[in-house]
Amino acid sequence: MTTISMVNARVIDGSGVDPFLATIDIVDERIVAVTRQDGASAGPTRGASADATVIDCTGRTVMPGLTEAHCHISFNDIVSMEAVVAIQPEDHALISLANAQMLMERGFTSLYSAAAAKPRLDVAVRNAIAAGLFAGPRIRAASQEISPSGNLGDIDTNYLQLPRSLAFAITADGADEFTKAARLAARDGVDNLKVNVSGDRDWGHMHADDQTTVIAEEEVAAVVAVARPRGLMVSAHCTSSEGVKMCVRQGVQVIYHAVHADEEARDMLEAAKDRVFVAPALGLPLTMLREAADYGFKWPASRYASLEQELETTRACMRDLHKRGVRVLPGGDYGAFVTNPMGTNARDLEHFVDFVGFSPMETLVAATKHGGALMQRGEDLGQIREGYLADLLIVDGDPLADIRVLQDFDRIEAVMIGGRLVKDRLGERRGVERREAAE
Ligand SMILES: [Zn+2]
Repeated sequence: MTTISMVNARVIDGSGVDPFLATIDIVDERIVAVTRQDGASAGPTRGASADATVIDCTGRTVMPGLTEAHCHISFNDIVSMEAVVAIQPEDHALISLANAQMLMERGFTSLYSAAAAKPRLDVAVRNAIAAGLFAGPRIRAASQEISPSGNLGDIDTNYLQLPRSLAFAITADGADEFTKAARLAARDGVDNLKVNVSGDRDWGHMHADDQTTVIAEEEVAAVVAVARPRGLMVSAHCTSSEGVKMCVRQGVQVIYHAVHADEEARDMLEAAKDRVFVAPALGLPLTMLREAADYGFKWPASRYASLEQELETTRACMRDLHKRGVRVLPGGDYGAFVTNPMGTNARDLEHFVDFVGFSPMETLVAATKHGGALMQRGEDLGQIREGYLADLLIVDGDPLADIRVLQDFDRIEAVMIGGRLVKDRLGERRGVERREAAE
């Protein structure tokens, strides 16, 4: 039995209540007690044994670990999808593991994957971490994108004829092919099936722009029919309004982007708010708009204008959905394009505050409590509460005063997953102090 007491912690518990000073007692993988302190500094309290390891958190914030709601650990700061395909699977698995560990050290203790670039990349990383071979975050592993031919992710041509094992997205046409693709992904051991319901901003040349619903409803239904009896989640790339309606009707649980959702689509999302999640994935369009020039891109003014328009539409939609009580989560597409690099994922929290207009507390609730629910563990993940899993961050600073502290690697001083410290700058410092005192 391992017992840890975090004392003098300023706790943001993930539920949305005001921060409070408390002692958190952890036994093995779970929080066994959260005891409010009334100002005075305290030692370990009930639940913790006398030989508990005590971590003094004076001046620090302790909060639940973050969930990345739209993660791609196998997307390696993409310049082109072809370049991602060219990475050989063995190398790609190690890159994916390294990305998962990098996100863990940056405070993301849970990753909800929104698609892998090859069939079993997420699965292999998830399994290796679960087997204890490597430290790492909790992962819900995704399939590749399953997409109709001639849509986002389809980089095949008549000449290439890419095998499934290398294609970026698996193309499927007709309910039977969607069934087959989804069943093969289930055979691989994924947790989340990803379907591309709409086109996207740069796919107009294939007649698949972001307002076009390229899938047929029976194709979505086929994927959901594979997911349901197996307990898998279905997530959708979906920017078009009709696509959002289709997803809600068919029981897709996670809707990404939802840019153009009209009044009727928003009504449907609101009616389904206890079972759906929406994640806009703002980092990619925002950094394309604001920072592409820093990466040497020279785009025409029309491209910037359309990005600006897309972002305005997204912002209005997310504000409205949030007001209606729909769970809107930060995270998304870090690593999916070079302007939005892997590891900068906590910028999404800043985007929620500065761009969408969430309060810092609402943003933290979305990234923690709602994140736990997205991971399908809302009953014991994503909050600091008795009985919950001890997935915690010790932060040097106050994310409610400045949400950007969560972007600072050095200020995420400790990361705990399931009661185990996987990053412990405070402990390292304690060791240095002990050594200095001995000299
Ligand atoms: Zn994505």
